[in-house]
Amino acid sequence: MKTADVVVIGGSAAGPVAAISCRRRYPEKGVVLIRMEEQVLVPCGIPYIFGTIGAPEKNLIPDALLDKNGVEFIKGEVVEIDREKKTASLASGDKIGYDRLILATGSLPVVLPIPGLDKENVFTAKKDVAYLRNMLDVINGAKDIVVIGGGFIGVEFADECKKNRDCNVTIVEILPHCLQLALDEEFCAEAESMLTESGIKVLVNQKVEAVLGGNKVSGVRLASGEELKADVVIVGVGARPNTELANKAGFEIGPTKAIVVDRYMRTTTDADVFACGDCAQRYSFFSGKVSRLMLASIATTEARIAGGNLFERRCYHPGVVGVFSTVISGRAFGCVGLTEAMARQEGYDVVVGESTAPDRHPGGMPGAASTKVKLILSRDNGLLLGGGVPGGAGTGEVLPRASC
Ligand SMILES: Cc1cc2nc3c(=O)[nH]c(=O)nc-3n(C[C@H](O)[C@H](O)[C@H](O)COP(=O)(O)OP(=O)(O)OC[C@H]3O[C@@H](n4cnc5c(N)ncnc54)[C@H](O)[C@@H]3O)c2cc1C
Repeated sequence: MKTADVVVIGGSAAGPVAAISCRRRYPEKGVVLIRMEEQVLVPCGIPYIFGTIGAPEKNLIPDALLDKNGVEFIKGEVVEIDREKKTASLASGDKIGYDRLILATGSLPVVLPIPGLDKENVFTAKKDVAYLRNMLDVINGAKDIVVIGGGFIGVEFADECKKNRDCNVTIVEILPHCLQLALDEEFCAEAESMLTESGIKVLVNQKVEAVLGGNKVSGVRLASGEELKADVVIVGVGARPNTELANKAGFEIGPTKAIVVDRYMRTTTDADVFACGDCAQRYSFFSGKVSRLMLASIATTEARIAGGNLFERRCYHPGVVGVFSTVISGRAFGCVGLTEAMARQEGYDVVVGESTAPDRHPGGMPGAASTKVKLILSRDNGLLLGGGVPGGAGTGEVLPRASC
């Protein structure tokens, strides 16, 4: 049986960073990374495959990083963890022994209990090259695309599908606004206007009740009774922690269905096993409450903490801060931390400061964009709780970065 000082399960955002962080902190330790995919996609680039990037093959994470850092890579599915014997068993029948184990098994798209979602040409945001290649081919021939969910992922899919294609795109969002879980209402309204101007139909306060058609999808029916034609449906309603393996091995699973870890990313179940990324439980920086945020920026921060803490306690996780940015029809929308609405909900007495200015000087320069910065502060102590920045291409650079 093969053995390694450290085995990492997962090869997307969190796994490789955890493996490389371990090698950097403890260069004498041998690290093996196991993942299911032959090639790994840049997850945040997935919607852009359907417009700006043009192909899944152009949106891959190079494996050279693993080689360069002395991380051994095995392609395979881990089907069982034996915590007593400290082994991970692969579907191939091979077993690998470990001293420390990191679970970075990520997340899977949420599947809604809507009848008809199993029909042909209904897609989710799967992190799988062959699946996305087929999805791209189908979308290239589509006339009517319905996107269920108007969060960041749904909005990005809709915007990209509309690019350079002669097709109808409709977003159906159950909340009063698209992007409402990330942005303050005035920015959501601006983003919706940009979507509408680019020809995307935005239906808010609407629920999809059924996906219609024979084998192939032909439309969706809303709770209002209205039917929308669709030859493609994209479901972008969030992700859930992928914890089947951990569950089977008896790890404690928390209220968000993620693996429970402490502030050092060590599982509460087994001192030799750590978890990081979308599969791990996380806590809000502001409230300390369990958080449902799932972001690559958070996954990689946690991975650095997990990798660094494997053999001695080095780094404490202060809690997660969400950082989002996206571009809709050429206008960027960024936000960090709490929105004004969230801050009030958390019970903060807030002071809001806003300013708008061109992002180039002088403002008459070609390409200059009006950029607004809204900052949300706690009145008691001046603590900066969050900010929103709709503006030009430089918006992402304005956002403060969350770091460990
Ligand atoms: C369409 C889309 C757009 C996004 N855009 C952004 C964005 O703009 N910004 C941002 O910060 N975040 C974004 N996210 C979220 C981000 O992708 C995730 O937070 C991130 O991928 C989490 O990384 P992870 O490594 O924890 O998990 P995953 O990316 O889910 O990776 C899990 C890994 O575990 C492996 N694995 C699972 N089970 C097993 C097993 N049994 N055996 C072996 N290997 C296994 C898989 O093969 C995979 O390599 C987006 C997500 C999606 C879907």
